[in-house]
Amino acid sequence: MHEFDLIQHYFTWTPFPEEVSVSVGDDAAIVQVAPDEELIISVDTLVNGVHFPLDTPAHAIGYKALAVNLSDLAAMGAKPRWFTLALTLPKLDQDWLEDFTCGLKELAYAAGIFLIGGDTTRGPLSITIQVMGTAPKQQALLRSGAQAGDLIFVSGYLGDAAAGLAVIQERLSLPITDANYCVQCLNYPRPRFALGAWLRGRAHSCMDVSDGLVADLKHLLARSQVGAKIYHQQIPLSPALQKLNLSDALNFALTGGDDYELLFTAPKHILEEIENYQLLNHLNLKCIGEVTSQSSELSIDYPLVNLPDGYNHFQ
Ligand code: ADP
Ligand code: MG
Repeated sequence: MHEFDLIQHYFTWTPFPEEVSVSVGDDAAIVQVAPDEELIISVDTLVNGVHFPLDTPAHAIGYKALAVNLSDLAAMGAKPRWFTLALTLPKLDQDWLEDFTCGLKELAYAAGIFLIGGDTTRGPLSITIQVMGTAPKQQALLRSGAQAGDLIFVSGYLGDAAAGLAVIQERLSLPITDANYCVQCLNYPRPRFALGAWLRGRAHSCMDVSDGLVADLKHLLARSQVGAKIYHQQIPLSPALQKLNLSDALNFALTGGDDYELLFTAPKHILEEIENYQLLNHLNLKCIGEVTSQSSELSIDYPLVNLPDGYNHFQ
């Protein structure tokens, strides 16, 4: 199979939406962006053995490469629209490519995002996806809008993916169903793009949690020049993590990575709307603390073992 046939067979997905006038097959793609919208762009690379364990199934790699990028669009409140894929492959393995595109397509269809171009090269396995989304002008969610007095929320559960990685690396043993659940969370994160879009005009600030709650929250606080108090009893722990001792569970939840949940701040009067959103969408949205005026100061009422930089314990 030649490179051209490979692209034709695996990466030419039809039909395209009407705003895409040129896509895979020409030197570059052309899309029409509506005048009342802004284009929101992000790119992320996944390198074999660095961003996923070496024996990760191809289906999961395809899914996750897009998921981590969609999570960035979600954090901005953007609607997923188009993406490009730069793929570096050690060899032409058709079974691997079949599974990879299947995982990629599954999430692309679910998110309503279209593959409009890319690049294919030979070398150590690496996947770069650039996502493009749109939002109404000036309405994208930023890290910089948090205000003292805001409540801090997080979606879903935290720490399951980090526990899944610990299971794979044999640093943690769990009952088999919990182990499978945590590895599934690591391989198939669920980007919260519907929640992100809903938060436009409601949240003051938003970001996705990819490097661990504490590390990421500190970025948001610095961008907004505010501080935060976090209450450990409010941290959302899955039934699987609740079976661990509290200190281990909180270390996964607060310092582990790969959650791809949304972390956002909003004024107190949002609580009732949040309640209704949770009920209608079967998605946990937990208030974990509040924003304070002490710039960049983060306090948590629990002593963590893996102390991240600048962490500060309060009673
Ligand atoms: P060029 O040499 O001009 O860069 P390529 O041979 O790299 O062209 O690509 C030919 C066409 O196929 C382009 O439209 C490009 O966007 C598309 N393409 C190449 N690789 C991929 C891929 N992995 N996924 C999607 N489209 C791809
Ligand atoms: Mg090229």
